Amino acid sequence: AQEKFDAIVVGAGPAGSAAAYTMAKAGLSVVLLERGEFPGAKNLFGGVLYRKQLEDILPDKWKKAPVERRIVEQRIWLMGEESAVTLSHRNEAFKEPANCWTALRVKFDQWFADQAVEAGALPIYSTVATELITEGDRVIGVRTDREAGDLYADAVIIADGVNSLLGKSLGIHREWKPDEVSLAVKEVIALPREKIEDRFNLEKDEGVTIEFMGKTSLGMAGLGFLYTNKDTLSLGIGVMVNHLKKKKIKPYEILDQVKKHPMIRRLIEGGEVKEYSGHLIPEGGWNSVPQLSGNGWCITGDAAQLVNFVHREGSNLAMTSGKYAAEAVIEAKKRGDFSRETLSLYDEKIHQSFIRKDLVKYKGMHEFLKEEDPDLLFNRLPQAANQAFYELFLVDGVPKGEKQKKMFQYLKEAAGGTWGLAKLGIKGWRAM
Ligand code: FAD
Repeated sequence: AQEKFDAIVVGAGPAGSAAAYTMAKAGLSVVLLERGEFPGAKNLFGGVLYRKQLEDILPDKWKKAPVERRIVEQRIWLMGEESAVTLSHRNEAFKEPANCWTALRVKFDQWFADQAVEAGALPIYSTVATELITEGDRVIGVRTDREAGDLYADAVIIADGVNSLLGKSLGIHREWKPDEVSLAVKEVIALPREKIEDRFNLEKDEGVTIEFMGKTSLGMAGLGFLYTNKDTLSLGIGVMVNHLKKKKIKPYEILDQVKKHPMIRRLIEGGEVKEYSGHLIPEGGWNSVPQLSGNGWCITGDAAQLVNFVHREGSNLAMTSGKYAAEAVIEAKKRGDFSRETLSLYDEKIHQSFIRKDLVKYKGMHEFLKEEDPDLLFNRLPQAANQAFYELFLVDGVPKGEKQKKMFQYLKEAAGGTWGLAKLGIKGWRAM
């Protein structure tokens, strides 16, 4: 007879490993299924990793996580053609305890999955889950691409990322619409440690994040990032897929453009591109989150659209959702009941947490970006803001009162008049 487990976790990203670890530690028999040769082999993110949620899962071990640099400064750049309006915050208080770090998924995912395996989860890697095995409306296992590769369990935790084959096979979500996902491309650029520390004003393991928007996304809704690792930089940009389709621009063409911007060019100069990759980011917000659990299953992380794209938080929502799903399965095991009734404990935990609260808070942002002209938001306004600040700082004998009028004029013209600007301000404020 087929061996049956308490739970199968599909996908060893942050969501899956958090779930597998939590259940294995509680003594459940758990399989951790991953299509990659090892967890993280092909995974990528920006990547900023947050301490709080990792510590909640691994209170004794989080300090050993393989991270790159602890972030002491976060910069936001509004890009003009050859300029930027910048805002940043640096604080020694971000060091102890660390608020967040940069990380590379190829190292982190492997380590995180190892914690689950050490706690007792059975790793099955290089194996693709092809569909869920069901009995009526109940999920009872997972079919894999291995010969005689059917696996059975009381519960399946779906953590297979943004494309979620299993979510689709279950019928709880469909192919994401092009306005619900961004396509991001990223390069890892090698640069000597000392150069990174000099250029970014850093000591030892300190790190900086830069997020940029504006001219760099070529009139499409997009966000770029430049993060410092130990001896590499992560440079990338994500753009809404519907805008990419409309403009017929290839993502690498945008990144090439980004690299030429004077604010970026100087920071990456002399670096050697080590890696290039692309990935989707779920950006549908709360309205795109599917049913979270059912008879014998829970869906977590990117597979359930649990990403706060306004704050570039995804890995922490993934980990926390994996932990909550695991706790629901642990309770189901205690009750001997893996039906939706018990597993909806997972939904409740999500609903009571920062995950739902944050995603609901920014629910309007998705609509705002969908409705507003991307050229206005990501091209004309940032350019106007740059002109306005140029005007402000330029000493050319023009009286300051006139300058202020001019600054306002730039913004007004970009938005098509005072009323247009006011309307946009109100809508933007509401969306936040
Ligand atoms: P994933 O990390 O995608 O893991 C899914 C796993 O499932 C993978 O290991 C995959 O190989 C495996 N898998 C998939 N299908 C199958 C199958 N059929 N069978 C077996 N295994 C399968 N978040 C942050 O917190 N900070 C950031 O700075 C940040 N920046 C980002 C930048 C970019 C460019 C991108 C793309 C994302 C970024 N995110 C960031 C988001 C973050 O990466 C995700 O939210 C997070 O990785 C989701 O974790 P997950 O475990 O749900 O999915």
